[in-house]
Amino acid sequence: MTVVAVVGAQWGDEGKGRTVDYLAQNADLVIRFQGGDNAGHTVVNERGEWKLHIVPSGIFNPLATCLIGAGTVVNLGVMIEELTRLEARGVDTSNLVVDKRAHLILPFHRQLDGAEEAARTAGWEVGTTQRGIGPTYADKAARHGIRVGDILRPDRLRARLEMLVPRKNRELAFFGLPEVSVDELMVLCQGWRQIIGERIVDAVPLVRDAIAEGKVVLLEGQLGIMRDLDWGIYPYSTSSSPTAGGACVGAGIPPSAVDRVLGVVKAFSTSVGGGPFPTEVHGDLAERLRSAGPKIGHEYGATTGRPRRCGWFDGVAIGYASWLNGFTGISVTKLDVLDGFEELKLCVAYRLGDQVLDYVPDTATQEEVEPVYETWPGWLSDTSGCRTWADLPANAQRYLRRIEELARAPIWFVSVGPERDQIIVVRGM
Ligand code: GDP
Repeated sequence: MTVVAVVGAQWGDEGKGRTVDYLAQNADLVIRFQGGDNAGHTVVNERGEWKLHIVPSGIFNPLATCLIGAGTVVNLGVMIEELTRLEARGVDTSNLVVDKRAHLILPFHRQLDGAEEAARTAGWEVGTTQRGIGPTYADKAARHGIRVGDILRPDRLRARLEMLVPRKNRELAFFGLPEVSVDELMVLCQGWRQIIGERIVDAVPLVRDAIAEGKVVLLEGQLGIMRDLDWGIYPYSTSSSPTAGGACVGAGIPPSAVDRVLGVVKAFSTSVGGGPFPTEVHGDLAERLRSAGPKIGHEYGATTGRPRRCGWFDGVAIGYASWLNGFTGISVTKLDVLDGFEELKLCVAYRLGDQVLDYVPDTATQEEVEPVYETWPGWLSDTSGCRTWADLPANAQRYLRRIEELARAPIWFVSVGPERDQIIVVRGM
């Protein structure tokens, strides 16, 4: 194993953070390649429970370098707070660096995120976490953005802000929000520069040399493919690409250098935010999946605390995720949540009128599909103590084998609880 992309195969919250934390024990470099502090990776390890928002989940290995890559958008204020919290609990964060090319989230991006969401017609809300991610990526694409590296060059920063601020003030005024000034933003950025200026690097030699030397590099995705800007449920999507392709772009790695693509797949489905979700269930069933017991549940967003929408496993979405990402293996998480279910449904196709679809169609069509289900018997026993494939009940093995078929990729790991050691290595990567 050398370069491994770890990507979400569903709507996000699949358990990528815990998977990266596990793999990072043997990694040299861990790169967050897209998104911002809208991530909510929960990691539980021997040092406690952690909520990570922008810091890569490799931070608990002091020997690994953690890079916040060029494809991300970074609120340095939030990053500094997160580092302070980690350090206060004894985590050495000295190996964390940020690429100069990452884009800067400024306070007005957050304000505009909230105002734009509030202005959306009912039913068309994106479900944004209101962290300023979308507006920052919009400025990046429009070539108005401020890069993290710009804060190291005050003259350049001021010139860039003088172009950006009048535009943003027009938008803020449109929403009845107070104007911002170049001077106040300069002061803010100067403060950030003093605290974390030394962590801002050009990541090209770091990444290139790590790969050339055969180091173990993990590419950590945020969110899942169904929130991808192009291939997800646009417009209920994020503003970047959490795919293996996006990993190459955001980390600055050629596709040919990626050795493994690990899809992280929850054993059922959850989604936070708007948009179609064909296998969604409601009422008691949803509540059972959301909070099935003290050891399980946790189906509340780590960044927002919002309850996650829950549903049956969607094999169509997984097949689609596998095709677009090129999974070479999958990690199935949260199997233990299903321990108490007498029977389980697996969606194996979508019905659209008299057509049967075996792929995820565009958003408008997806809103019209009906899931086609298979019903599988549950195992009605506690899997949280299982540590090998053989320990798993036969019905759990059958359910997993069916997931493997639908994913068209072998299962490498199964997790049966949030703790670092609650993982079954099914086969080596
Ligand atoms: P991420 O954004 O993909 O890293 O996922 P989140 O951290 O947002 O959500 C996953 C949640 O499930 C977290 O609270 C994890 O601690 C928890 N979790 C991860 N794997 C397992 C598992 O195998 N079993 C249980 N019960 N919880 C898990």
